[in-house]
Amino acid sequence: MPVQYRFSQKNIDCYFDGDFSILENIVQKEKVIFVTDENIYEAHTGKFIGHKTIIIKAGEEFKNQQTADTFIVELINLNADRQSFIIGVGGGVVTDLTGFAASIYMRGIKFAFVPTSILAMVDASVGGKNGIDVGVYKNLVGVINHPEFLLYDYSFLQTLPHGEWVNGFAEIIKHACIKDRDMFDFLQENSLSKFQSSLNEAGKLIRKNVEIKYNVVSQDENETGDRKLLNFGHTIGHAIENISKLPHGSAISIGMVAACYISEKINNLATGDTKKIINLLQQYLLPVQFDFDKEKAWRILQHDKKKTGGDMNFVVLDHIGKASVQSIPMKELYQIFNEIT
Ligand code: NAD
Repeated sequence: MPVQYRFSQKNIDCYFDGDFSILENIVQKEKVIFVTDENIYEAHTGKFIGHKTIIIKAGEEFKNQQTADTFIVELINLNADRQSFIIGVGGGVVTDLTGFAASIYMRGIKFAFVPTSILAMVDASVGGKNGIDVGVYKNLVGVINHPEFLLYDYSFLQTLPHGEWVNGFAEIIKHACIKDRDMFDFLQENSLSKFQSSLNEAGKLIRKNVEIKYNVVSQDENETGDRKLLNFGHTIGHAIENISKLPHGSAISIGMVAACYISEKINNLATGDTKKIINLLQQYLLPVQFDFDKEKAWRILQHDKKKTGGDMNFVVLDHIGKASVQSIPMKELYQIFNEIT
């Protein structure tokens, strides 16, 4: 039985511990068009045989309008109509693009996700945000629209590259930092290899994180309050990601460390908490070194969506497990940003 998540726009069914094969009980096969990327298709070809499937190129650099256009042309070629049902099977690039293209094709057709990366499972597929990048500006164009359902088949994780496990844990640690001290302690007592060797344990942790994200988003769908906290580490992290081509999780990890230092200055975060967070990030093999072109990063930061006038709405930590948003004058932020070594 699925768990039902309620949003104002619609209720979505969430099948935890699902198996890909149950899709045939949820949607009519002849209406389904799968969307996946070339890596996932290659690793799980058998799952797509006999189904209409659109295969997009893998990687963030293809999360753009050009890929969305190709996707839409393929939908036309496959005679997709308003009764069609698009299922994005993949990481956050596939789910973001699927939600976006399905939402604009014929002014919107039904879609669902089978997230296959840790990051897509705990973050990208939950909350209704879908979109594409425009040049260096991540997720600049998009829509808010929820999938009909989410299906979690943890067996996909067997083929997830090691680096993508590490990436995904950046978001899990973020959830712990902003919302869940107990999960922070639990993560300290465990290790990445433990979750990699037990899909059952990984599944329990993923479900906990889906619940954290769902609880935050469902209480603040328009991002006027708590939902902003999910951006912890992302303001500086996105800027780093754009200029360095570091993987998302690595950039967010460094962004969280920077946000901790800024929290110490602006919000009296205890130095001990910053140390614990740095240790946990390292324990899960994430980088914490602040080593990139600050001037370039600053230029990107000035175009951040969270900037209003001369201030940046910046997520700071109060302590591990609790965060808040502070409006920091850009001048002050620039000064602190430059002091971080
Ligand atoms: P991704 O989709 O690029 O996947 C990472 C890599 O792992 C890709 O090469 C992919 O082919 C491969 N992969 C994924 N699952 C696999 C599997 N089971 N087996 C083998 N290979 C697999 O990246 P991601 O980290 O999953 O997602 C990042 C994207 O998510 C970014 O574009 C980010 O903006 C977006 N995102 C969106 C939201 C949202 O709310 N919509 C939230 C967070 C992140």
